[in-house]
Amino acid sequence: MLNLTDRVAMITGGAGGLGLALADRLATLGANVVVNDIPQAEEAAERVAEMVRKHGRKALVALGSVTSADDVGKTVDSVLEEFGKIDILINNAGITRDGLLIRMSEQDWDMVLEINLKGSFLCTKAVARPMMKARYGRIVNIASVAGVMGNAGQANYSASKGGLIALTKTTAKELASRSITCNAVAPGFIETRMTEVLDEQVRAQWLQNIPLGRPGTPEDVADVVAFLASDAAAYVTGQVLNIDGGLIM
Ligand code: NAP
Repeated sequence: MLNLTDRVAMITGGAGGLGLALADRLATLGANVVVNDIPQAEEAAERVAEMVRKHGRKALVALGSVTSADDVGKTVDSVLEEFGKIDILINNAGITRDGLLIRMSEQDWDMVLEINLKGSFLCTKAVARPMMKARYGRIVNIASVAGVMGNAGQANYSASKGGLIALTKTTAKELASRSITCNAVAPGFIETRMTEVLDEQVRAQWLQNIPLGRPGTPEDVADVVAFLASDAAAYVTGQVLNIDGGLIM
Protein backbone atom coordinates (compact mmCIF):
# COMPACT_ATOMS: atom_id res chain seq x y z
CA MET A 1 0.00 0.00 0.00
CA LEU A 2 1.37 3.42 -0.97
CA ASN A 3 1.74 5.89 1.86
CA LEU A 4 1.93 9.66 1.49
CA THR A 5 1.17 10.59 5.09
CA ASP A 6 2.04 14.24 5.77
CA ARG A 7 3.55 14.77 2.36
CA VAL A 8 2.74 18.16 0.81
CA ALA A 9 1.69 17.93 -2.81
CA MET A 10 1.11 20.83 -5.19
CA ILE A 11 -1.05 20.14 -8.24
CA THR A 12 -1.12 22.74 -11.01
CA GLY A 13 -4.37 23.00 -12.94
CA GLY A 14 -5.76 21.18 -9.93
CA ALA A 15 -9.37 22.23 -10.50
CA GLY A 16 -9.66 20.29 -13.78
CA GLY A 17 -10.69 16.72 -14.55
CA LEU A 18 -7.39 15.03 -13.88
CA GLY A 19 -6.55 17.47 -11.10
CA LEU A 20 -9.60 16.38 -9.13
CA ALA A 21 -8.72 12.69 -9.41
CA LEU A 22 -5.09 13.38 -8.53
CA ALA A 23 -6.04 15.41 -5.44
CA ASP A 24 -8.47 12.69 -4.37
CA ARG A 25 -5.91 9.90 -4.70
CA LEU A 26 -3.05 11.77 -3.02
CA ALA A 27 -5.29 12.86 -0.13
CA THR A 28 -6.59 9.31 0.28
CA LEU A 29 -2.99 8.19 0.68
CA GLY A 30 -2.38 10.83 3.36
CA ALA A 31 -1.03 13.89 1.56
CA ASN A 32 -1.94 17.51 2.20
CA VAL A 33 -2.78 19.11 -1.13
CA VAL A 34 -2.21 22.52 -2.69
CA VAL A 35 -4.67 23.13 -5.50
CA ASN A 36 -3.32 25.64 -8.00
CA ASP A 37 -5.42 26.94 -10.87
CA ILE A 38 -6.25 30.21 -12.61
CA PRO A 39 -8.52 32.69 -10.76
CA GLN A 40 -11.44 31.93 -13.12
CA ALA A 41 -11.43 28.35 -11.79
CA GLU A 42 -11.68 29.39 -8.14
CA GLU A 43 -15.03 27.72 -7.44
CA ALA A 44 -13.91 24.39 -8.88
CA ALA A 45 -10.58 24.66 -7.02
CA GLU A 46 -12.44 25.24 -3.75
CA ARG A 47 -14.56 22.14 -4.40
CA VAL A 48 -11.40 20.06 -4.87
CA ALA A 49 -9.95 21.53 -1.65
CA GLU A 50 -13.18 20.68 0.22
CA MET A 51 -12.92 17.09 -0.98
CA VAL A 52 -9.32 16.91 0.30
CA ARG A 53 -10.48 18.17 3.71
CA LYS A 54 -13.19 15.50 3.80
CA HIS A 55 -10.35 12.98 3.68
CA GLY A 56 -9.05 14.59 6.89
CA ARG A 57 -6.14 16.29 5.11
CA LYS A 58 -5.20 19.95 4.81
CA ALA A 59 -5.84 21.80 1.58
CA LEU A 60 -4.71 25.15 0.26
CA VAL A 61 -6.11 26.86 -2.83
CA ALA A 62 -3.43 28.91 -4.60
CA LEU A 63 -4.81 30.89 -7.52
CA GLY A 64 -2.46 32.11 -10.24
CA SER A 65 -1.22 31.27 -13.69
CA VAL A 66 1.67 28.87 -14.18
CA THR A 67 2.82 31.16 -16.99
CA SER A 68 3.69 33.94 -14.55
CA ALA A 69 6.93 33.60 -12.59
CA ASP A 70 5.48 36.08 -10.13
CA ASP A 71 2.29 34.04 -9.54
CA VAL A 72 4.28 30.80 -9.26
CA GLY A 73 6.71 32.39 -6.79
CA LYS A 74 3.81 33.62 -4.64
CA THR A 75 2.17 30.19 -4.75
CA VAL A 76 5.33 28.40 -3.63
CA ASP A 77 5.91 31.01 -0.89
CA SER A 78 2.37 30.47 0.39
CA VAL A 79 2.91 26.70 0.45
CA LEU A 80 6.14 27.08 2.43
CA GLU A 81 4.46 29.49 4.82
CA GLU A 82 1.51 27.14 5.39
CA PHE A 83 3.30 23.79 5.45
CA GLY A 84 7.02 24.56 5.79
CA LYS A 85 7.92 22.29 2.87
CA ILE A 86 6.92 21.02 -0.53
CA ASP A 87 7.47 17.34 -1.24
CA ILE A 88 5.57 16.69 -4.45
CA LEU A 89 4.94 18.79 -7.55
CA ILE A 90 2.52 17.57 -10.21
CA ASN A 91 2.82 19.68 -13.36
CA ASN A 92 -0.70 19.02 -14.60
CA ALA A 93 -1.94 22.38 -15.97
CA GLY A 94 -2.40 22.03 -19.69
CA ILE A 95 -4.55 23.15 -22.57
CA THR A 96 -5.18 22.27 -26.20
CA ARG A 97 -5.75 24.62 -29.16
CA ASP A 98 -5.98 22.10 -31.98
CA GLY A 99 -5.72 22.77 -35.69
CA LEU A 100 -3.78 21.65 -38.70
CA LEU A 101 -0.25 23.01 -38.85
CA ILE A 102 -0.82 25.05 -42.00
CA ARG A 103 -3.76 26.82 -40.39
CA MET A 104 -2.44 27.11 -36.84
CA SER A 105 -2.13 30.68 -35.64
CA GLU A 106 1.03 31.88 -33.95
CA GLN A 107 -1.14 32.86 -31.00
CA ASP A 108 -2.44 29.29 -30.54
CA TRP A 109 1.10 27.95 -30.81
CA ASP A 110 2.41 30.41 -28.21
CA MET A 111 -0.45 29.92 -25.75
CA VAL A 112 -0.10 26.13 -25.64
CA LEU A 113 3.69 26.25 -25.33
CA GLU A 114 3.44 28.94 -22.63
CA ILE A 115 1.07 27.00 -20.39
CA ASN A 116 2.10 23.39 -21.03
CA LEU A 117 5.87 23.79 -21.26
CA LYS A 118 6.99 27.13 -19.85
CA GLY A 119 4.51 26.74 -16.99
CA SER A 120 6.08 23.41 -16.03
CA PHE A 121 9.56 24.94 -16.23
CA LEU A 122 8.60 27.84 -13.95
CA CYS A 123 6.97 25.58 -11.37
CA THR A 124 9.85 23.11 -11.42
CA LYS A 125 12.35 25.94 -11.00
CA ALA A 126 10.37 27.41 -8.11
CA VAL A 127 10.17 24.15 -6.12
CA ALA A 128 13.71 23.01 -6.91
CA ARG A 129 15.40 25.11 -4.20
CA PRO A 130 13.21 24.05 -1.25
CA MET A 131 13.35 20.44 -2.45
CA MET A 132 17.14 20.59 -2.78
CA LYS A 133 17.45 21.98 0.74
CA ALA A 134 15.24 19.18 2.03
CA ARG A 135 17.12 16.62 -0.06
CA TYR A 136 13.78 15.16 -1.03
CA GLY A 137 11.35 15.70 -3.85
CA ARG A 138 9.02 14.04 -6.32
CA ILE A 139 8.18 15.85 -9.53
CA VAL A 140 5.66 14.26 -11.87
CA ASN A 141 4.95 15.84 -15.24
CA ILE A 142 1.70 15.11 -17.04
CA ALA A 143 2.78 14.75 -20.66
CA SER A 144 0.79 12.90 -23.33
CA VAL A 145 1.17 10.14 -25.90
CA ALA A 146 1.01 13.03 -28.41
CA GLY A 147 4.39 14.14 -27.07
CA VAL A 148 5.84 10.70 -27.78
CA MET A 149 4.36 9.90 -31.20
CA GLY A 150 3.06 13.25 -32.51
CA ASN A 151 -0.56 13.75 -33.49
CA ALA A 152 -2.06 15.32 -36.59
CA GLY A 153 -3.86 18.52 -35.64
CA GLN A 154 -1.79 19.01 -32.51
CA ALA A 155 1.53 20.54 -33.61
CA ASN A 156 1.51 22.93 -30.65
CA TYR A 157 0.29 20.40 -28.08
CA SER A 158 2.56 17.53 -29.17
CA ALA A 159 5.58 19.86 -29.28
CA SER A 160 4.77 21.12 -25.78
CA LYS A 161 4.46 17.59 -24.41
CA GLY A 162 7.56 16.37 -26.25
CA GLY A 163 9.39 19.32 -24.74
CA LEU A 164 7.99 18.41 -21.34
CA ILE A 165 9.42 14.91 -21.69
CA ALA A 166 12.85 16.38 -22.47
CA LEU A 167 12.47 18.75 -19.51
CA THR A 168 11.63 15.73 -17.34
CA LYS A 169 14.87 13.96 -18.24
CA THR A 170 17.00 17.08 -17.75
CA THR A 171 15.37 17.83 -14.39
CA ALA A 172 15.93 14.22 -13.36
CA LYS A 173 19.63 14.47 -14.22
CA GLU A 174 20.16 17.85 -12.54
CA LEU A 175 18.36 17.06 -9.28
CA ALA A 176 19.17 13.37 -8.79
CA SER A 177 22.12 14.03 -6.49
CA ARG A 178 19.68 15.57 -3.97
CA SER A 179 17.36 12.53 -4.02
CA ILE A 180 14.77 14.38 -6.07
CA THR A 181 13.12 12.30 -8.77
CA CYS A 182 11.38 13.61 -11.84
CA ASN A 183 9.24 11.43 -14.07
CA ALA A 184 6.54 11.91 -16.66
CA VAL A 185 3.37 10.08 -17.47
CA ALA A 186 1.99 10.04 -20.98
CA PRO A 187 -1.77 9.49 -20.83
CA GLY A 188 -3.57 8.40 -23.98
CA PHE A 189 -7.29 8.91 -24.37
CA ILE A 190 -8.66 9.81 -20.94
CA GLU A 191 -12.32 10.72 -20.29
CA THR A 192 -12.21 14.36 -19.15
CA ARG A 193 -13.47 17.75 -20.34
CA MET A 194 -10.47 17.88 -22.68
CA THR A 195 -11.66 14.83 -24.65
CA GLU A 196 -15.41 15.45 -24.19
CA VAL A 197 -15.29 17.94 -27.04
CA LEU A 198 -14.01 15.44 -29.62
CA ASP A 199 -16.55 14.33 -32.22
CA GLU A 200 -17.86 10.75 -32.35
CA GLN A 201 -15.74 9.81 -35.36
CA VAL A 202 -12.49 10.87 -33.68
CA ARG A 203 -13.50 9.09 -30.46
CA ALA A 204 -14.31 5.88 -32.34
CA GLN A 205 -10.98 6.02 -34.13
CA TRP A 206 -9.09 6.37 -30.85
CA LEU A 207 -11.02 3.52 -29.24
CA GLN A 208 -10.40 1.21 -32.16
CA ASN A 209 -6.65 1.55 -31.58
CA ILE A 210 -6.67 0.93 -27.82
CA PRO A 211 -5.82 -2.75 -27.13
CA LEU A 212 -7.55 -2.67 -23.73
CA GLY A 213 -10.69 -1.58 -25.57
CA ARG A 214 -11.78 1.34 -23.40
CA PRO A 215 -10.86 4.94 -22.75
CA GLY A 216 -8.81 5.64 -19.64
CA THR A 217 -10.29 7.25 -16.56
CA PRO A 218 -8.74 10.05 -14.50
CA GLU A 219 -8.36 7.44 -11.74
CA ASP A 220 -6.23 5.26 -14.05
CA VAL A 221 -3.84 8.20 -14.35
CA ALA A 222 -4.00 9.11 -10.65
CA ASP A 223 -2.94 5.59 -9.60
CA VAL A 224 0.27 5.75 -11.63
CA VAL A 225 1.05 9.33 -10.59
CA ALA A 226 0.57 8.37 -6.92
CA PHE A 227 3.10 5.58 -7.36
CA LEU A 228 5.66 7.94 -8.93
CA ALA A 229 5.01 10.48 -6.15
CA SER A 230 5.61 7.91 -3.43
CA ASP A 231 8.64 6.33 -1.81
CA ALA A 232 7.84 3.13 -3.68
CA ALA A 233 9.29 4.85 -6.76
CA ALA A 234 12.46 6.10 -5.02
CA TYR A 235 14.70 4.42 -7.60
CA VAL A 236 12.74 5.54 -10.67
CA THR A 237 13.73 8.79 -12.34
CA GLY A 238 13.77 10.33 -15.80
CA GLN A 239 11.16 7.87 -17.04
CA VAL A 240 8.06 8.28 -19.16
CA LEU A 241 5.23 5.91 -18.31
CA ASN A 242 2.51 5.56 -20.92
CA ILE A 243 -0.99 5.26 -19.44
CA ASP A 244 -2.83 4.49 -22.62
CA GLY A 245 -4.37 1.02 -22.55
CA GLY A 246 -1.55 -0.20 -24.79
CA LEU A 247 -2.17 2.40 -27.52
CA ILE A 248 1.44 3.14 -28.42
CA MET A 249 3.28 0.01 -27.31
P1 NAP B 1 -8.71 20.10 -17.87
O1 NAP B 1 -9.90 19.54 -17.18
O2 NAP B 1 -8.91 21.18 -18.89
O3 NAP B 1 -7.69 20.58 -16.75
C1 NAP B 1 -6.62 21.46 -16.98
C2 NAP B 1 -6.63 22.50 -15.86
O4 NAP B 1 -5.54 23.41 -16.06
C3 NAP B 1 -7.93 23.33 -15.89
O5 NAP B 1 -8.47 23.44 -14.59
C4 NAP B 1 -7.42 24.68 -16.40
O6 NAP B 1 -8.20 25.77 -15.96
C5 NAP B 1 -6.03 24.70 -15.80
N1 NAP B 1 -5.21 25.76 -16.41
C6 NAP B 1 -5.27 26.26 -17.68
N2 NAP B 1 -4.39 27.24 -17.83
C7 NAP B 1 -3.73 27.37 -16.65
C8 NAP B 1 -2.70 28.23 -16.18
N3 NAP B 1 -2.16 29.15 -16.98
N4 NAP B 1 -2.28 28.12 -14.89
C9 NAP B 1 -2.83 27.20 -14.06
N5 NAP B 1 -3.81 26.35 -14.45
C10 NAP B 1 -4.26 26.43 -15.73
O7 NAP B 1 -7.90 18.95 -18.62
P2 NAP B 1 -7.41 17.52 -18.07
O8 NAP B 1 -7.88 16.52 -19.04
O9 NAP B 1 -7.69 17.34 -16.63
O10 NAP B 1 -5.84 17.68 -18.33
C11 NAP B 1 -4.87 17.67 -17.31
C12 NAP B 1 -3.51 17.38 -17.94
O11 NAP B 1 -3.53 16.07 -18.53
C13 NAP B 1 -3.12 18.34 -19.05
O12 NAP B 1 -1.76 18.67 -18.95
C14 NAP B 1 -3.37 17.54 -20.30
O13 NAP B 1 -2.57 17.96 -21.38
C15 NAP B 1 -3.02 16.14 -19.83
N6 NAP B 1 -3.57 15.06 -20.65
C16 NAP B 1 -4.91 14.87 -20.73
C17 NAP B 1 -5.38 13.83 -21.53
C18 NAP B 1 -6.85 13.56 -21.67
O14 NAP B 1 -7.20 12.68 -22.47
N7 NAP B 1 -7.74 14.25 -20.96
C19 NAP B 1 -4.49 13.01 -22.23
C20 NAP B 1 -3.14 13.25 -22.12
C21 NAP B 1 -2.69 14.27 -21.31
P3 NAP B 1 -9.47 26.25 -16.86
O15 NAP B 1 -10.27 25.06 -17.16
O16 NAP B 1 -10.20 27.22 -16.01
O17 NAP B 1 -8.87 26.84 -18.11
